[in-house]
Amino acid sequence: NLGTNLKDALKKLAGKTVIDRVAVEELVKDLQRALLQSDVNVKQVMQLSQTIKKRSLDEEPPKGVTAREHVLKIVYEELVHLVGGKVDVQLGRQTILMAGLQGSGKTTTTAKIARYFKKKGLRVGVICADTFRPGAYTQIKTLCDRVQVNCFGNPKETDARKIVAEGLQHLKDEVIIVDTQGRHALEDELIQEIIDLNEMTHATHRWLVLDAALGQQAREQARRFHEAVQIDGVIITKMDGTAKGGGALSAVAETGAGIVFVGAGETIEDLEWFDPDSFISRLLGMGDLKALAEKVQESINEEDIDVNAMLSGKFTLRDMYKQLEAVNKMGPLKQVLSMLPLGGMEVPEGAIEVTSTKMERYRIIMDSMTSTEMDDPTVMNGSRVQRIAMGAGATLEEVRELIKYYKMMKRTFKNLKGGEKGMQRLMKKF
Ligand code: GDP
Ligand code: MG
Repeated sequence: NLGTNLKDALKKLAGKTVIDRVAVEELVKDLQRALLQSDVNVKQVMQLSQTIKKRSLDEEPPKGVTAREHVLKIVYEELVHLVGGKVDVQLGRQTILMAGLQGSGKTTTTAKIARYFKKKGLRVGVICADTFRPGAYTQIKTLCDRVQVNCFGNPKETDARKIVAEGLQHLKDEVIIVDTQGRHALEDELIQEIIDLNEMTHATHRWLVLDAALGQQAREQARRFHEAVQIDGVIITKMDGTAKGGGALSAVAETGAGIVFVGAGETIEDLEWFDPDSFISRLLGMGDLKALAEKVQESINEEDIDVNAMLSGKFTLRDMYKQLEAVNKMGPLKQVLSMLPLGGMEVPEGAIEVTSTKMERYRIIMDSMTSTEMDDPTVMNGSRVQRIAMGAGATLEEVRELIKYYKMMKRTFKNLKGGEKGMQRLMKKF
């Protein structure tokens, strides 16, 4: 696993007291090994390691930055450079061809992208060119209906070219997305088909959809598709899972195309912009506090909640009350937690499984608490619990459960503190 190997290489560096030529050379060698094992192309690896070595030895660390931190910064920057910058998505008339193997997430991503353009006020039409997978048309049609975009397909037709030709005649939308079929393997037939579809549609973009869990095969897939249709954007899906997307690095290196979007969930709302910084942080195991902070800021009123205070370990029942309201707007807690550096930390099942009904109950119970209890939950005792339960029409058990949940959340945020500090120390120095 690329992430683990890179992390190990950096950890080794962290354990050194002197950062000299020998230490830098050893680090570069470890990095090379990690990247090559992940199938990142040799030329890219050599370039990257040359640059890291040269910069580490030539550049003076700025004041207050240790040599070790300085080297880390350089490694980080160069890796960000390797995955490419942000790719701009134009909002005009365009045709997008989706490429990728079966199961990579093309259809789901097609719907996510359709929703994105639709929300931007563009008219969107999708063509289902998957004649291989049974039920393909129903799958995409259902998703398209949900986001209210046009969908063209013909489940009885076996030639994808014919469907696409008809679809192009039929759909007059500004953005046309062609969802193609993908087999389990890269067969010549599939490659020829995508070449034909690319020519027929005069596609403005050809985006390759890759599963984040893909390791060694990512490069080969990227190469074949790139040779066939000149991939100009990569989409990494399933970033909500445990995979860190290391294989994506190789695909990007192979095609020279940047990552356009990241898929982070099964529902059509789960599309994110690719942020190279966050991606590398995650790859290196630093967690993605930046994304969390942004998400939190986006979804809640600034005065409502103070993320920094929350992360600094000050966490009262009052904070939790606000947080429950915020979580309502932020989406599933599970997704929020997946962005945090929980390395090695057990997230109690209960923290994830708080349903909205339960959150509503918790809020009602907290409405029966006094200001003192809300600000300083340590005052809680048996008689207080009884009074709160009475006031809220809740059972003692429910109140105790809430307090247990509070304590668990407090612990969670307290544990985050270490992660955040490490992260901040690293980021600040940059
Ligand atoms: P296709 O064969 O390339 O069209 O892939 P699909 O879009 O049908 O997706 C295959 C499976 O992956 C489905 O079960 C999707 O729900 C799932 N999937 C797609 N994108 C994501 C994602 O970003 N996160 C998660 N967790 N699952 C995804
Ligand atoms: Mg599909």
